[in-house]
Amino acid sequence: RHLPYFCRGEVVRGFGRGSKELGIPTANFSEQVVESFPSDISTGIYYGWACVGNGDVHKMVLSIGWNPYYKNVKKSVETHIIHTFKEDFYGEILSIVIIGYIRPEKNFDSLDALISAIQDDVEEANRKLDLPEHLKLKEDNFFHMPE
Ligand code: ADP
Ligand code: MG
Repeated sequence: RHLPYFCRGEVVRGFGRGSKELGIPTANFSEQVVESFPSDISTGIYYGWACVGNGDVHKMVLSIGWNPYYKNVKKSVETHIIHTFKEDFYGEILSIVIIGYIRPEKNFDSLDALISAIQDDVEEANRKLDLPEHLKLKEDNFFHMPE
């Protein structure tokens, strides 16, 4: 109902869940950005487009979940960009458009199960974002920030 949802904010340090070690780093938004989200948006996994600073626009998968760091009373919003970056980009401005929903949050029995679920999410995002109606949003003026 809230989609597509456009959002921009600084990338902050997460709570080191070790996503990077799994090969799936997630860029975390600051608390203020998370609080500006519609409070009734469903938790779960989404797909869309993302861009760092005024760089290229890439496919992404995003998770909206409960933040264990704040005893699960606050949400966290984390973006995994489907692109290999040379360097980390903490402190930079991340712009995203959230386009569609993939699945609810789940608990996994094993790390392998988690990783394979995320690989499925990435595949689904890849497929969906190639649809013409979604490719259109990649070119949205939202991503062309003024200098
Ligand atoms: P943290 O707990 O600090 O969020 P992560 O292990 O989730 O640590 O790694 C996230 C960081 O990795 C991002 O803030 C960003 O600087 C960097 N990074 C590098 N490549 C990517 C990518 N493809 N998608 C998201 N973040 C990336
Ligand atoms: Mg993270």
